[in-house]
Amino acid sequence: MDNSTMHELGLDVVRLTTTRKTHRPHAALCFDGHIFAVDTTRTFGNDPIQPDAYLITHAHSDHHGKSAMMSPKSICSEDTARALEIRFGKEYMGRTFRIGETIDIDGIEVATHPTYHTIGSCAFSWENDKGIRTLVTGDVKDASDLPDCDFLVTEANYGDPADPSCYFEDDVAGLEQIIGDNVALGAYAFGKAQRAVSIARNAGWQDEISMDTKGYNLTKGLMGDCGPLTEIMQYNGGHEGLVIVPPWDLGKLPGSMKKYVLTGRRDYYYPAIQISDHMDVTGLVDMVVGLEPEATLIYHPDGHRPQRLAAHLNKVGCPAAALSDI
Ligand SMILES: [Zn+2]
Repeated sequence: MDNSTMHELGLDVVRLTTTRKTHRPHAALCFDGHIFAVDTTRTFGNDPIQPDAYLITHAHSDHHGKSAMMSPKSICSEDTARALEIRFGKEYMGRTFRIGETIDIDGIEVATHPTYHTIGSCAFSWENDKGIRTLVTGDVKDASDLPDCDFLVTEANYGDPADPSCYFEDDVAGLEQIIGDNVALGAYAFGKAQRAVSIARNAGWQDEISMDTKGYNLTKGLMGDCGPLTEIMQYNGGHEGLVIVPPWDLGKLPGSMKKYVLTGRRDYYYPAIQISDHMDVTGLVDMVVGLEPEATLIYHPDGHRPQRLAAHLNKVGCPAAALSDI
């Protein structure tokens, strides 16, 4: 699959450039005279291509909301806007919507769909003049609420079929078993920390959860039903109940605590519990096959995984290309 395949669908994929002529992150989709940028940094006045909108799929740093949030043309879910403001301490300048709403962007009706990757994470879909349905997913944990499409723009965070670490299942039962007093979980402050809180609460843990300042602010600001939370002011003091901090802060907690890292990696000093914000490669392939696109563009992340997933999809009969090959 190449650019001509997409052109036949009435779409062109362009890379935005910086003043130094390097590519801005990710891409912009051009169709029927509109330009929607996806998860990229905002352009400046003299840049040759000026998008009509900056779609921000979620508030993880590698999707560049920190930059795009400063443009009035930015568009993201209410929860993503709040997460960006809490994470980066700046006012979000763009438009927001509730996930599930259909919004008008530059005269185009754009539907929005949950992807369950982080709080606020969201996919966008619309139809062009040729009746081609485009779906932009961002990162996906659960694809069950995504609509069928003709042109799919998606991710490959765990997309290498030849890499054993791209096959996993979440060990929710294992996490539920160890939840208790004097237990510390290492989890990134945005995404995994909220997932850990919600698993603990669903498992019946009603007592205090103590978190580092970032995790506390994000969880308090984004989760309506997070239960009793305490902000950790000093690591060497006594900590109430269950503790959730970034993995690199576990060592600052008392040695008497039982410590675990929520990760698919096996190179941490502490025992790991497999909890991911992502689908594994089996999930990604099932998603693409199930959405039945005529063409798939894999736009994220950097590295070789998009090409590996695209090669596999082509083999199983789904025309696909990585952004780096376009
Ligand atoms: Zn992400």
